[in-house]
Amino acid sequence: MAAQETVEHKYVYDFAEGNKDLKDLLGGKGANLAEMTNLGLPVPPGFTITTEACKAYLTTGREPDGLAGQIEAHLESLERAMGRRLGDPDDPLLVSVRSGAKFSMPGMMETVLNVGLNDRSVVGLSNQAGGNDRFAWDSYRRLIQMFGKTVCEVPGEEFEHALDEAKRAKGTQNDLDLDADDLRGLVDAYKQIFAKHTGREFPQEPREQLDLAIRAVFDSWNAERAILYRRQERIPADLGTAVNVVSMVFGNLGPDSGTGVAFTRDPGSGAQGIYGDYLANAQGEDVVAGIRNTVPLQELEQLDKTSYDQLLGIMARLEEHYKDLCDIEFTIERGKLWMLQTRVGKRTAAAAFVIAGQLVDEGLIDLDEALHRVNGAQLAQLMFPRFQLDHEFQPVAKGIGASPGAASGRVVFTSARAVELAAEGEAVILVRRETNPDDLNGMIAAKGILTSRGGKTSHAAVVARGMGKTCVSGADELEVNVPAKTFTVGGHTVGEGDVVSIDGTTGKVYLGEVPVMPSEVVQYFEGELDPETTDDPLVRAVHRIMTHADAARRLRVRTNADTGADAARARRFGAEGIGLCRTEHMFLGDRRELVERLILASGERERDDALAALLPLQRADFVEIFREMDGLPVTVRLIDPPLHEFLPPLEQLAVNVAVAQERGEDVAKEEALLSAVRRMHEENPMLGLRGVRLGLVIPGLFAMQVRAIAEAAVAVVRDGGRACPEIMVPLVGAVQELETVRAEAEKIIAEVVGDSGVEVLIGTMIEVPRAALTAGQIAEAAEFFSFGTNDLTQMGWGFSRDDVEGAFFWRYLELGIFGISPFESIDTDGVGRLVRIAAEEGRAARPGLKLGVCGEHGGDPESVHFFHSVGLDYVSCSPFRVPVARLEAGRAAISTTGSDSR
Ligand code: ADP
Ligand code: MG
Ligand code: MG
Repeated sequence: MAAQETVEHKYVYDFAEGNKDLKDLLGGKGANLAEMTNLGLPVPPGFTITTEACKAYLTTGREPDGLAGQIEAHLESLERAMGRRLGDPDDPLLVSVRSGAKFSMPGMMETVLNVGLNDRSVVGLSNQAGGNDRFAWDSYRRLIQMFGKTVCEVPGEEFEHALDEAKRAKGTQNDLDLDADDLRGLVDAYKQIFAKHTGREFPQEPREQLDLAIRAVFDSWNAERAILYRRQERIPADLGTAVNVVSMVFGNLGPDSGTGVAFTRDPGSGAQGIYGDYLANAQGEDVVAGIRNTVPLQELEQLDKTSYDQLLGIMARLEEHYKDLCDIEFTIERGKLWMLQTRVGKRTAAAAFVIAGQLVDEGLIDLDEALHRVNGAQLAQLMFPRFQLDHEFQPVAKGIGASPGAASGRVVFTSARAVELAAEGEAVILVRRETNPDDLNGMIAAKGILTSRGGKTSHAAVVARGMGKTCVSGADELEVNVPAKTFTVGGHTVGEGDVVSIDGTTGKVYLGEVPVMPSEVVQYFEGELDPETTDDPLVRAVHRIMTHADAARRLRVRTNADTGADAARARRFGAEGIGLCRTEHMFLGDRRELVERLILASGERERDDALAALLPLQRADFVEIFREMDGLPVTVRLIDPPLHEFLPPLEQLAVNVAVAQERGEDVAKEEALLSAVRRMHEENPMLGLRGVRLGLVIPGLFAMQVRAIAEAAVAVVRDGGRACPEIMVPLVGAVQELETVRAEAEKIIAEVVGDSGVEVLIGTMIEVPRAALTAGQIAEAAEFFSFGTNDLTQMGWGFSRDDVEGAFFWRYLELGIFGISPFESIDTDGVGRLVRIAAEEGRAARPGLKLGVCGEHGGDPESVHFFHSVGLDYVSCSPFRVPVARLEAGRAAISTTGSDSR
């Protein structure tokens, strides 16, 4: 029998074999090291072990077959290329072992430098460096420290204490003052620490060091903090990390050596020009670890002009090649520059827009690409007011920016106190170690929420985002003492009533009140800043990209607005109509009394009187809105909430009745209300007598609204305006419901409209799962569908929207049952499927059926892409979300590959 030849799977790639598009396989770091190698840039030679090897290791618990041999082969060819053997006693090759996943996870995983050093090769290293003992022992102590900490879980502080101790013994603060003997002593101390914690000696065998380090990098993918980070950043858990083995270059060889990090543009503002830090005589991680003070990169020009000029040339080259802002890590070894890392750099929201605009100007990218590189979340961030931060304001702590915005207010520690002070008109910041469902009222009352524990998916963060409230979570420098009503931070004690300011975008916490300034992007949308003449680069860039998005998008964007003022603002923000005009607010305020009369009406006569009194008020509301939206469609939803929502709460009525009786006053009306409230009480009001059911049960109610709408439209048209009303019936689950309402409405419309030329469409919301599933039938009676995805989500999942987010969503997020609340981004698999079915079957029954969405999802970036893909005609969202929806609709239209901008 012929031996079957098995083709061995390729797990290891030389840098020369990879390129930047292989991030899935080689991780971001490895793919970009390969790319730079192939560009001819000075990268120390090395190889990358693939994410597939990592995944195989993590699933089986052992290295896959063939991996060891491939590492051996690549190591040998690296040794040949470098003319040195790993850990050779006389002339050692040293390597770093570096993690690198597809998406950068800063500080989450592990890197070990100087692998290959031991008691003998440390001497060889010194000889290599011309007898530089200090350097050799410094490198060795770093290896034991990093290896101990990351490979063997020795507590890092122990090494730091030993280092501090050595410096103290020497009477210095600066690690550079330690000489070769001091460092040799430190190596001994480190070895003891290592042995104490691991029960074994520090491994002397170079290849064993290498294998253990590689394995540690694999394992670091599943370290707790890495898991948490991925969850927060929504990075899939099954990608695995690659491992890069890179020959060492040394920035710690003396004053003519050093190491640095740099950006090719300012990642904060997007301004052109290089930004970076440099540290002489240091190894990699020292720069970010803050061990010594770095100098601005510009000073490298004085220290080493040749390397500086070369670095600038390389940075320009990288920008041109990647056509984007890059960040880099480099090391200079005795005047020779080495590139150790590059990637497309993270940036702030403002910088994202500014840089995209600049790159278009520079001819590096086109407008489609610019649009692709920004997103709605960034735009939304830029629309929040910001703190006006002069240098006098220094943050006292930094937590996680859990829900954006800027808020100042008096500190309170309990929900009850928050409610009390807010009722007195005070702005309050609720401070807790962490919040729980009992804090809900306080969270509603507060301007902002500050916690010392918990991440982006903590209770505080989730609930605050749901409410659109500023929140900083996990500010762990805060010692919160709720019983004592104080917190301490950096030596300050802050008590109840003291003022603090929190920035929910940056996570920073300030003592005292920081002035807030309006967003220039909002000023632009409001028409207060002219994009042609302003010298604000951000406004110019936003204008340009928005204009392109508008030209590109297929989805129209409408707004949810119930008042003329909201409608006007939304129109300035680019709304192309109203997708949801709720009529229930027209029953509030001093009109409540009429609603009470309606509810309490004892006969047809009284009811008709109440409705007749409501009619002109409603009509006036509609006239105002139709005028503001002149020429654009306005979808008016007939009354939706259960009527008892308009009555006072039961407890309050009961008290009123009791008090009035005590005083001997006439309680007839109060008692009537009380019994109405008792009669109308529902256990599940969201599933009760509301929406179309009200219209079918209470004679004349919908008729009055339809008449008000039609009369308002006629009035506006008679005045020379253009009114385009669309009447929307809520909560329909069966076509018969809609047909009944429709028959009555059509009669009224025909009568009112006459020959005025006004056209009124009648359609329905699709928000009950049954409606989605019988959309083909419903479409026979509807000229349009508007998906009410809030209720569709509520009823699709069986989640009581008003309760679940505060009660247990944090836990669902923690467990990864969903990555984001389905009320925030539409659940495309379930609720989205209902939308898809209804869209398809509705359009099959009535070609050209107008389709829109009016839930909160209409302004959510990810959901907008989904609605685009389902083929809806428009999304409708709150006025402030209109620009976000415009941008995302444009992005959805141009996105072909769905590549991500992480
Ligand atoms: P991170 O992903 O946390 O930045 P890196 O793998 O980039 O970790 O390594 C940490 C530091 O060590 C970086 O500053 C890097 O430049 C430096 N470093 C990594 N490999 C080498 C090497 N072969 N020679 C010199 N310095 C290195
Ligand atoms: Mg790095
Ligand atoms: Mg609804």
